[in-house]
Amino acid sequence: MSVQYSTKNLPKQLFINNEYVDAKSSKKLSLYNPKDGSLLSDDVPLAGEQDVDAAVDGAEKAFPAWKKMSATQRRGILSKFADLIEQNAESIAQLSRISLGAPSAFGAFEIGLCAEAFRYNAGFIDKFGGESWPQEDGFLKIVRNEPLGVTAGIVPWNGPIGTIGLKAGPALATGNCFILKPSEKTPYSSLALGTLIKEAGFPPGVFQILTGDGSTGALLASHMRVRKVSFTGSISTGKKIQEMAAKSNLKRVTLELGGKSPAVVFDDCNLDNAVEWTANAITANTGQVCFAASRVYVQEGIYDKFIEKYKEAMKAKAKEIGDPDEKSTNIGPLVDEAQFKRVQGFIERGQQGQGTLAVGGKRVGTTGFYLEPTVFTDVDPKSEIHCEEIFGPVSVVKSFKTEKEIMELSNNTNFGLMAGVFTQDINKALRVASDFESGMVGINCVSLMFMSTPFGGSKESGLGRECGIHALRAFTEPKTIMINMNY
Ligand code: NAD
Repeated sequence: MSVQYSTKNLPKQLFINNEYVDAKSSKKLSLYNPKDGSLLSDDVPLAGEQDVDAAVDGAEKAFPAWKKMSATQRRGILSKFADLIEQNAESIAQLSRISLGAPSAFGAFEIGLCAEAFRYNAGFIDKFGGESWPQEDGFLKIVRNEPLGVTAGIVPWNGPIGTIGLKAGPALATGNCFILKPSEKTPYSSLALGTLIKEAGFPPGVFQILTGDGSTGALLASHMRVRKVSFTGSISTGKKIQEMAAKSNLKRVTLELGGKSPAVVFDDCNLDNAVEWTANAITANTGQVCFAASRVYVQEGIYDKFIEKYKEAMKAKAKEIGDPDEKSTNIGPLVDEAQFKRVQGFIERGQQGQGTLAVGGKRVGTTGFYLEPTVFTDVDPKSEIHCEEIFGPVSVVKSFKTEKEIMELSNNTNFGLMAGVFTQDINKALRVASDFESGMVGINCVSLMFMSTPFGGSKESGLGRECGIHALRAFTEPKTIMINMNY
């Protein structure tokens, strides 16, 4: 079987207990295509309280049997789901693309990431067995990794498919039931997964999909029977979620939030490599990437050469902008008018004394939300463009003299998601890598991730980690069982 929906037949129902059902709430979401601003549909359901309760009821009912299912059986279901995602890659990518605007290469990356997340976590099911401790003191101690129950994943629009895998993969592998709440800006591809969920063999209630906006997310975050929320999105929403979790049932929370990631380029680096990574980092997905290297610091000895090459690279990127439905396009529009105006606002204000516009800054075309890759130089370190997450194809570049000075500036922020260092001196690279206050650091690379290693931020960029064994830990709780051996 394949995905039953397409761009000509968009999904308009919630997916609860393995069935597409009409929402009880009468509220709807309207969606527009960012490549031309045209209306896609105005009747995507906005799940309300009764819908959320129905999804939680179903998930709660499904939980006891799901957590007891044998590892082989559960692994089979998750692996089949990964296969089905790949087999339906093009349909899913199209349903994502029409409201996100990201070109097919990004869609392919996301689908691959999602399928890999399900496979990776499926492989872990019988290898996450808990611990036991010696009985010489008269007590045998066994630690079980127990699932939490009904869990929820609230995901953003900028990686609508990949983030599903990063959350649902470990949640379901460890025996939890999972309710997915996609972003109101990118609901179609998520909703379309219902057919595949059923075909893969997930029992009814195990994997639910509720579309809606922040109000639906808030219902999940404050629900008394949801035991965990894994959230990816902005810092302000992340803080609200943690508050709702605390005020309701102290549900567990994982937060993957924003960033303003530095790349520090030293005189002794391979210049072309540094230019390539930093230019790719800020233009992938039109700069709408949480861990994009958006602050580029270049040591003064190579500053002029770097700027010349970086500007060239960004101008070349501008030529890759186009209709996301064309295979040759590498950079699409920003996600919608609101995001476009937000980024444009940063660019306009940036030119009023915050820095020098070195490249880009203009809208591309007259329809759709396209923007040139944009670089500011000579930025004031206290300015808005230097300090705030812009979440578009806009970077700031600044020169520096010493390692000490630039590490202070790099860390002088409440963000702490990703950082990069470019140098051929391994001692310096490792010293700087350990000095960065961030969850992830690239040496001679930046803005990348792996399924096997912890993904997430320090400081206000997040709480907890996804990927690797950390993701499984985040969806389970250790239970200690103590056996009196002298009884
Ligand atoms: P957002 O916070 O506006 O929305 C994210 C999700 O939260 C959406 O599904 C939205 O409906 C929901 N939401 C909104 N208000 C809510 C509320 N009060 N209660 C519960 N849910 C609510 O973020 P966005 O604009 O979709 O995404 C962009 C942000 O996400 C950027 O800051 C980016 O850096 C961050 N992000 C982080 C990562 C990461 O892994 N660290 C990955 C991707 C994006």
